[in-house]
Amino acid sequence: MSVPTALLVITAALSAMMLAIVWSLRRCGLPGVPDWCNANLVVTLSLVLFALRGYVNDIFSLVMANAALAGALALFYAGCVRFCGGEPRWGRLAAGLLATMGVVVVWRYVFDVFTTRVVAVSAFHAVLCALTGLTLIRWRPHGRAGGYHLTTAGFALFFAACHTVRGLLSAFSLMGDPYSLQSLGLNTFFLTLGALVMPALTMGAVLMIHDTMVRKLEAIANTDGLTGVMSRKAWEDMASRVLAATARGGIPPALLIIDIDRFKGVNDTYGHAAGDAVLKGFASLAGAQVRVTDGLGRLGGEEFAVVLPATRVADAVRLAERIRAGAEQHAVHIGEHGTMVRYTISGGVACLRPGETLALLSARADAALYRAKLDGRNRIVVHDDGPAAATVPAREALPA
Ligand code: GH3
Ligand code: MG
Ligand code: MG
Repeated sequence: MSVPTALLVITAALSAMMLAIVWSLRRCGLPGVPDWCNANLVVTLSLVLFALRGYVNDIFSLVMANAALAGALALFYAGCVRFCGGEPRWGRLAAGLLATMGVVVVWRYVFDVFTTRVVAVSAFHAVLCALTGLTLIRWRPHGRAGGYHLTTAGFALFFAACHTVRGLLSAFSLMGDPYSLQSLGLNTFFLTLGALVMPALTMGAVLMIHDTMVRKLEAIANTDGLTGVMSRKAWEDMASRVLAATARGGIPPALLIIDIDRFKGVNDTYGHAAGDAVLKGFASLAGAQVRVTDGLGRLGGEEFAVVLPATRVADAVRLAERIRAGAEQHAVHIGEHGTMVRYTISGGVACLRPGETLALLSARADAALYRAKLDGRNRIVVHDDGPAAATVPAREALPA
């Protein structure tokens, strides 16, 4: 078996393996993944056809093999466009493929000039690789999330450069026949690089798929499904980070725990869906009041918490009062008849003491909340150091 044929067989096997990997990720539902599967399927077929050169008619081992290879690259590029949220221009891709194949057919069956075919094929491959790289760079997610997009784009642009060099060398007749033993060196080099294109790009695609899936799952785990605020776990993580940062000095954080008053009554009177609407409405109301550095989370049921970094007790109470007053004014419209549901909240505030853990701070804020409930609800209570907590009564407390 010649070196080029051995390379083709190895790459065909590698592409089949990459196909299995990317196929296993089809269920993730991300756009572009089916195109990447098809690209690997088509490239595997094309490499098998190339490897059969000399054993089967050139229509298969040259024309169809080249068409499949270029088509696979076009499919990969289309997958990248879709993965980035766009829609590929199939018409232009098909036109480019047809033009390239037109050159291959004419310069095989009319003139039979190897170098012209290489120039045409290399040019099309170079354009597709460059477009792939530029698409991934342009539409990459911002921040660290874009790392794998840039890696894959780097592969694609490197291969675009290689195809360009190969095309130029062929145009100036600096490369010989890839199937002749005399010109093995350069041709084998470019054949090796060419063989690596799809597996390398597919590896980049797999990294991008994994990264996107991990980020999606993280977002699901960190977000409360009903209200869109932080989940309990994410909130606790954030609050712990805020407390840890305070250990290095500065104004300590405050904690506000909020509970919707008589929420069971809302469910019982208007139904569970109305209760859900109140939870959503309150979460968005509270979210609009807190600062970007504050962390609002749903601890469970109708209980929410806000951690306020570097906040003095008076400022924490002011914010809590704003939320309480907002809730009191808030009317949640439910159902087709526009029934209005009104509700109030109670809140407990505590400021971090030196060396205190999140559990102890939460327990004190909870104690203040309990006090607010006992004192008549619809009010904010501050946990102070004395035996009696300070109550900030509402203008008009609901009857207990
Ligand atoms: P209090 O003023 O003392 O806080 O009384 P409450 O009725 O608000 O408190 P209680 O703990 O008795 O009831 C809370 C209710 O919240 C009971 C539960 O069915 C309801 N609940 C918990 N999670 C959800 C939810 O996701 N959606 C809806 N609609 N109701 C929920
Ligand atoms: Mg309640
Ligand atoms: Mg409760």
